[in-house]
Parts: sequence; structure tokens; C-alpha cells
Amino acid sequence: MSEAAATVRLFFALWPGTDLQAKLAAWAKQAAGRGRAMRRENLHLTLAFLGATEAALVPDLIALAAGVRFAPIRLPLDRVGYWKHNRIIWCGAGEEPQPLAALVGDLRARLDAAGIRYDPKPFVSHVTLVRDAASLPDAPAWIPLVWAARDFVLVSSTRVEGRVTYQVLQRFPAQAG
Ligand code: ATP
Ligand code: MG
Repeated sequence: MSEAAATVRLFFALWPGTDLQAKLAAWAKQAAGRGRAMRRENLHLTLAFLGATEAALVPDLIALAAGVRFAPIRLPLDRVGYWKHNRIIWCGAGEEPQPLAALVGDLRARLDAAGIRYDPKPFVSHVTLVRDAASLPDAPAWIPLVWAARDFVLVSSTRVEGRVTYQVLQRFPAQAG
């Protein structure tokens, strides 16, 4: 008799510091209308979504990600948008910074080499601010922000009584730069 291996729902992400979290959450709350503003502590930018993964692989994933070399990333959050297909309001960079693309490329290449599956959709950097939104509201005006990202994280996602909870399992710091 075999038992199914325990799995965890995982993703790699950039995680905002408290200051940026507060600014993003405040805007999201005002922009939400009948939509669902993301809670402050849940705001993030997904780099690679692994989904259900064997829990026993977590140490390997941590070792793999620790090998990624990158300099701190300056990510302008200079635009907001609305995607009809998934009804989200998001913010992101009008022009994707090359260091961010390089980080994602390196991380995904290491996952490929290790045979670890992740969602292969091309990376489009964005921070989801509001879910179940009908449109992008005219107000409040978006005030451009700059995200200085000094690390990325491995996160597990769980759903407790209908509420999604993220737990940062490990941080991977940038090299000096
Ligand atoms: P919920 O799905 O419970 O409403 P959520 O989408 O925030 O909440 P997860 O589904 O665990 O939580 O997703 C975690 C992150 O990964 C989110 O940023 C989500 O947009 C992203 N994500 C989820 N599924 C995929 C996927 N198939 N491909 C790429 N990114 C994904
Ligand atoms: Mg989801």
C-alpha cells in the first residue's frame, strides 16, 4: 500500500518591505471598489510558481535558490493596469529591468536543471493589488514608487477557512552591489 507524498503549495517571489507594503495596501484599499484588496501582508511579486510540490524537496529547493547570484534590483512601480481575463488590478514596471529578468532566468534554469516543475508561462512582473475587480478606477491616482529589492523568498501558500495565508520559508539575499 502506498501513501501519497505530502505536498506543499510553493512559489518564489519578491516580498516588499513594510514601508512599500503599507503604500501598496493603502492604494489597493481605495481602488478596490467591489473587488477584494490584497491584504498588506500578502502582497508580493511572483517569480516562479511551483504549485503542489513534495515537501521533502524543500531543502533541495533552498539549496538550489541559494546558488542564484544577483545584485539588488531597482524595480520602478510606475504603472497600474487591469487584466480582464483574471479580473485583477496590478502595478508594475513599464519597462522590465534587465536584472529582474536575469534573476528569473537563472532561477528557472536551475529549476529546469533539477527537474523541478513550475508554471512555464513567460514571466510578466506584476504585483496583484485587487482581485475580482470590474475595471481600473480613475481614482485614486497612482503615485509611482520604486522597489529596491535586496532579496527574494521561497513561500508556501495555504488556505485556512477560505483565507489564503503565505509563509516565507527562506530568504535569499542579493550579493553586494
Ligand atoms: P487564491 O488562489 O487562494 O485566491 P492566491 O492566488 O494569492 O490565492 P496562490 O494560488 O497560492 O494564492 O498563488 C500564489 C501566487 O502565485 C500568486 O501570486 C498567484 O498569482 C501565483 N500563481 C498562482 N497560480 C499560478 C500559475 N498557475 N501560474 C503562475 N502563477 C501562479
Ligand atoms: Mg491562485
